[in-house]
Amino acid sequence: MASPGKISIIVPCFNEEAVLPVLFQNLGEVAATWSAEYEIICVDDGSSDRTWELLKAKNAGDPRWHYVSFARNFGHQIAVSAGLHFATGDCVVIIDADLQDPPDEIAHLLEKWRAGFEVVIAIRRERHDPPVKKILAWGFYRLLEKMTPLPMSPDAGDFCLLDKKVVAVMNSLPERSRYLRGLRTWCGFRQTSIEFDRPARAAGVARYTFKKSFALAMDGLFSFSATPLRIATYLGLWSSAFAFFGVVFTLAQKIFSTQFSKIGLAPGAGFPTIVISILFLGGVQLICLGILGEYIGRIYEEVKGRPLWVLRDSAGINLQEKKPPAA
Ligand code: UDP
Ligand code: MG
Repeated sequence: MASPGKISIIVPCFNEEAVLPVLFQNLGEVAATWSAEYEIICVDDGSSDRTWELLKAKNAGDPRWHYVSFARNFGHQIAVSAGLHFATGDCVVIIDADLQDPPDEIAHLLEKWRAGFEVVIAIRRERHDPPVKKILAWGFYRLLEKMTPLPMSPDAGDFCLLDKKVVAVMNSLPERSRYLRGLRTWCGFRQTSIEFDRPARAAGVARYTFKKSFALAMDGLFSFSATPLRIATYLGLWSSAFAFFGVVFTLAQKIFSTQFSKIGLAPGAGFPTIVISILFLGGVQLICLGILGEYIGRIYEEVKGRPLWVLRDSAGINLQEKKPPAA
C-alpha cells in the first residue's frame, strides 16, 4: 500500500477507570510514532464507574480520541461491533483497554497490512491469566476447532487488524449473536498472524466474569457449528441401540434362566433396572432438548431484530452518516 492510510483503533471499556490513564499515556505515545492519520474509538460499554467522564475529558483534550457510550452493558462483542461500525479508517485494530494487547505490537500488525494482508491476527504465545481460565480456554478452543469447519486458531483472541474491506463485510453481516473471531475467519480474505506474549492486566480487575466467558464460548460453539445437533442424534441412536440390546438380554435371561443363574446373572426384581433406564433416558432427552433450545433461543434473538446497542452519548462520531444498524 503506497499511502500510510488512516488507522482506527477500537477499545472496548467496561468499568475501566483504573486502567484508562495508563492506556491514554501508553497508547498515545505509541500512536505518536505511526506517522499516519489515526482515530481511537473507545466504546464505553455501560460502565458504572468514571469511565465515561474520563473518556469525555480525554476527547476534550485530544479530539483524535473519540468515544461512544452505551445506555447499558451490552457486552464486549457488541462494544467491538459498535466500534467497527463507527470506524472510518483504512484499517481497524481491536485492542483491550487493560493493555493486555500491548500497543507496541500494533506496529507489527501494520507492517503485515502494508505488505498486503487484509486480516492480521495476533496470536497469544504466552498468557498470564489465572490457571483455571487458561485450562478452560485451552479445552474450549480445541473443542471448537474440532466442531467447526472454519479454520479458527485456538490461541487467537480479538486483538487483530482488519482492512476496511473486511470491516465493511463484517458490518454487513446481519446476525445479532456476534462471535467476532468466528465472523472474522468466515470473511476470508488474505489472513496472516503474528505472535505476542500476553501480559497481565495493567490495572483494575478482569471484566470478563466466568458467566460472560461461558456465554461467549456458547455463542462461538452454537453460532459456528451444527455438530451439537448431530451429537444429539447420535446420543438418541446409541441409547436406542443400548435399549434394544437390553430387551434382547432380558428375553434371553427369561428363556435361559437356569443357564444365566449358573453364571451369576439370574433375573433380578427389575426395580433398579427400571430406575436406571428412566434416569438414563430422561438425561439423554434433556440433553437433546437443551441442545435444540440453544439453537431455538438464538433464532428467537435473531427474529426479534432489536438493535445491537443503544447509545447514550458520543463524541467525534458522525452519527448522521453512521446510523446504527437498522432493527
Ligand atoms: N469489556 C467490555 N464489556 C464487558 C466486559 C469486558 O467492553 O461486558 C471489555 C473490557 O473493558 C476490556 C476487554 O473487554 O477492555 C476485555 O475484558 P477483560 O480484560 O475483563 O477480559 P480478559 O482479558 O480477562 O479476557
Ligand atoms: Mg483483560
